[in-house]
Amino acid sequence: MALNKSMHPRNRYKDKPPDFSYLASKYKEFQQHVHTNLTGKVSLNFKEPEAVRALTCTLLKEDFGLTIDIPLERLIPTVPLRLNYIHWVEDLIGCGTNKNKLIRGIDIGTGASCIYPLLGATMNGWFFLATEVDDMCFSYATKNVEQNNLSDLIKVVKVPQKTLLMDALKEESEIVYDFCMCNPPFFANQMEAQGVNSRNPSRPPPSSINTGGITEIMAEGGELEFVKRIIHDSLQLKKRLRWYSCMLGKKCSLVPLKEELQQQGVPKVTHTEFCQGRTMRWALAWSFYEDVIMPSPPSKKRKLEKPRKPITFTLLEYTVKELRNKVASSEPVPSDAIEVVTAVVEKILTDLKVLFKRVPCGKDEVSLFLTAIQNSWVHVRRRKRDGARQLRELPRATSDPFQSTEADSTSQSHSSPNTGPDGAERSNVGAGEMAGENEEELPANGGNSLLSVMPLDQESNMETEERFSSSDSSSTVLGTDSAVEKEKASSARANPEAEDTPKGSGSCFLFKCLVNVKKDGRNAQVEMHWVEGQNRDLMNQLSTFLRNQIFKLVVS
Ligand code: SAH
Repeated sequence: MALNKSMHPRNRYKDKPPDFSYLASKYKEFQQHVHTNLTGKVSLNFKEPEAVRALTCTLLKEDFGLTIDIPLERLIPTVPLRLNYIHWVEDLIGCGTNKNKLIRGIDIGTGASCIYPLLGATMNGWFFLATEVDDMCFSYATKNVEQNNLSDLIKVVKVPQKTLLMDALKEESEIVYDFCMCNPPFFANQMEAQGVNSRNPSRPPPSSINTGGITEIMAEGGELEFVKRIIHDSLQLKKRLRWYSCMLGKKCSLVPLKEELQQQGVPKVTHTEFCQGRTMRWALAWSFYEDVIMPSPPSKKRKLEKPRKPITFTLLEYTVKELRNKVASSEPVPSDAIEVVTAVVEKILTDLKVLFKRVPCGKDEVSLFLTAIQNSWVHVRRRKRDGARQLRELPRATSDPFQSTEADSTSQSHSSPNTGPDGAERSNVGAGEMAGENEEELPANGGNSLLSVMPLDQESNMETEERFSSSDSSSTVLGTDSAVEKEKASSARANPEAEDTPKGSGSCFLFKCLVNVKKDGRNAQVEMHWVEGQNRDLMNQLSTFLRNQIFKLVVS
């Protein structure tokens, strides 16, 4: 699944999801939880905590040689997500630069699984101080360490609720720890834990179960207050730790926490994002050491990546001819096919109030530099949809015609291979989709159609950045009957889940791209090259919109 692209490059599950059939054949306990459908596809129901637990335990056994027990009443970690954080900590501390030095870390709130210390000790030989407030978690964590013979490297300590690092460190005044990590309780209260207010009511229910116990997933003030407390402790401990770090369940926690660190004059602050399957997480790290080398935050990294393929669509000779006939009625008719297509594209962009200007380019092509200020193409679709819905008085979800189009197996570029129509059971699921905890889920592409019926204002508090795979090299040909159907499907699939207005200070556009209209044999091709902006999916949407509008013009 494309979102796995955002997995850490060293994550062993990146581009290599676990083979459920193989694991089921090898592990009896796991086999009990997999379902094989009539076509032989093996899948796991992520709504069953037992199944989620079986997967986590099986992966830890198969890939790390770890044997763990986790009670169903406590948080069941997902291995790929936890690995992402471990790899980021490796990046922070510059793992590998000084191989002989014992690396010491602290895991604040280690949980019943004790997963971070178990992974860190097994993979890298790190020493861990693992803290926990909850009795049940503490005793399971201790047992998990012992049964893996890792007591020399992992010390599990029971701490009082009130402080996070101070109590754990008060006896060891000499030692400098290399890092601390923390997966904090995300929610402020029961309502938030159940997704009330924070989860859009139109969103489908989570496809995975939240297995966390109340004390684990909830803390007074939610993750924001929890992390502020860690910051507070760090201001006293300062250089006792080289890096302080925390995972965040909500992107909106990042800015206030960074501001807090800035106000306190913390010299080094960085962040990252973890993404797998439909789950996104963010992480924040800070240091009082001036000499630490900071890994670049994800946006900067992305800019350095090699340019991605453009989004393209082809207009057949016949389509271009028809277009010429249509525009003939109004304007002086351009004779050249490229000019005809360009004129139509320019007209649509003008109607959308998307800014563009022609820029110099090669012979036989036209290049437009495009700046989209607001998501006007979604408004057009939404208005139409809302009108249609009022007429039909249809409830949302399954009866929604957009959704039934979504499930259409002819889908080409926007569909998610791992998501069934119910969005819950996935066969051979992408590694990161092995959710099963208090993780805010991302709608997979397969769910986009459902999102397309959501009011955007409600949607806007959900984090949208990098949530969907972009159909980079997707290419569609218009001008045939089957293309008509495909176009309809793709129109319904296009993801309108983008914000209305630019977010973040300083940005006053949604995105910029370069549109090239060029010859492709006897046909014409429209290419959209990403330049910059919030989210490449916005460009995908606009491309789909343009194709649909052009096609409508031809058939009208
Ligand atoms: N690290 C585990 C568990 C995270 S859940 C994982 O990633 O799967 C958060 C954990 O923090 C819970 O187990 C909860 O009991 C613990 N916790 C809550 N407050 C704490 C505190 N003040 N100090 C240490 N642990 C705490």
